[in-house]
Amino acid sequence: MKICMIGAGYVGLVSAACFSDFGWVVTCVDKDPDRLADLKAGRSPIYEPGLEALMDRNIKAGRLLFTDKLGPAVADADVVFLAVGTPMRRGDGYADLSYVFSAVEDAAPHFQDFTVVTTKSTVPVGTSREIERRLKAKRPDADVAVCSNPEFLREGSAIQDFTHPDRVLVGTDDERAREVMARLYKPLALRGSPVMFVERESAELAKYAANAFLALKISFINEIADLCENLGADVQEVASAIGRDRRIGDKFLHPGPGYGGSCFPKDVSALIRTAREAKSPVSIIEQVERVNHERKLAMAIRIEEAAGGSVRGKTIAVLGLTFKPNTDDMRDAPSLVIVPMLQERGATIRACDPQGRRQAEPLLPGLTWCENANEAAEGADILVVLTEWNEFRALDLEGIRNLMGGRTVVDLRNAFDADRARDLGFDYSGIGRGKAAPGELDAKNRAGRPGAHPVQAAK
Ligand code: NAD
Repeated sequence: MKICMIGAGYVGLVSAACFSDFGWVVTCVDKDPDRLADLKAGRSPIYEPGLEALMDRNIKAGRLLFTDKLGPAVADADVVFLAVGTPMRRGDGYADLSYVFSAVEDAAPHFQDFTVVTTKSTVPVGTSREIERRLKAKRPDADVAVCSNPEFLREGSAIQDFTHPDRVLVGTDDERAREVMARLYKPLALRGSPVMFVERESAELAKYAANAFLALKISFINEIADLCENLGADVQEVASAIGRDRRIGDKFLHPGPGYGGSCFPKDVSALIRTAREAKSPVSIIEQVERVNHERKLAMAIRIEEAAGGSVRGKTIAVLGLTFKPNTDDMRDAPSLVIVPMLQERGATIRACDPQGRRQAEPLLPGLTWCENANEAAEGADILVVLTEWNEFRALDLEGIRNLMGGRTVVDLRNAFDADRARDLGFDYSGIGRGKAAPGELDAKNRAGRPGAHPVQAAK
């Protein structure tokens, strides 16, 4: 089977590499000349564990190809995937479909035999039908079937997610497309991953509903974490207890500085707009978006309060800037809100990130970049963990203490052992680790947080 993958970013490149590893011949088409130069040299333009080795194997086997020439790749393909970006549209929060439609327009003249066109990009309900309409208008003679095949992989574990999915979801009402897609995913079906065939609208909406639900879970545990602090409970214990309930599940119950990344913020926003337009507002998801926005601001205020009420003139070591570990992706990372807010309030930032510097540097001006956590900690008054890379979890805290000028640690990912940090003399605060009895909590942890209420011990 021959595949044309339009867009060789996080989703397109990982999908292409994995499909080629199944034995299919995949040609990736991308418009970005720098990205293409990397790919042609066998280098991954993104950081994703295991990806370069997978690319290397399949490039050498002649199954994974890269080009900027769309025509021949489309003409030769049994399946054309659209894996281009669908960022949040400026101004109104809808999904920006201009990349999708422009790829469709570019591909239209080149279809030859029966071809399945399928969106891997996350697109609002109705997009497959609109693609079909545009293709029919431009190429009434083309024998194409348009499917929806949303992707559920996570950055940082993308290859494992793609090759061991909980399900593969295909939205189609075309029998020939169904056969092609079933053959395409047969290697996964044989390993036990269900391949579900549904209506196109269901597939499109399922992707948004999944991301909105996961965003809700994160916002939920973030609010429970705040409550833990105010009531003297420990959120790790609470999350672990509720997570064992199979009706709830233990994933996405890690409190932190708010969700970010390339998907949740834009997909939550797009779902809200779609739902309002359909006159069926998703008020619970609207609340999630608001809570998450406030969360990021509250984290900056929390750092300020931990610093004694002001960060003016203070040096802050920030560990981790990417939206999560094991990726270099900075899209909508909480650091993009928190770090500038600290800078505006007069702090000097010394930052490090194992993979994120190249992408973060243009987005976060005015930082002092450090090679590692030890260098960042040198002379710092405050140390903040923003992203829980493994190498931060394993830090020699005693060494860090000796390098720092101050003793304040604000651990927004609960990456450190709180007891050990306190034993070493740090003034340590994590998230949701309120071990004190109600009413005894350190007020500085709560002050200024939007939505924070004083403990009402009498109730
Ligand atoms: P990305 O920005 O990393 O990659 C998009 C690529 O498409 C870029 O390399 C760009 O140069 C290329 N491109 C744009 N227009 C093109 C065109 N007309 N022809 C050829 N190439 C073109 O985006 P991504 O993170 O891979 O996301 C792609 C889609 O997948 C989005 O809709 C996203 O919501 C969805 N998705 C992303 C993830 C994730 O974790 N990143 C997970 C699931 C779904």
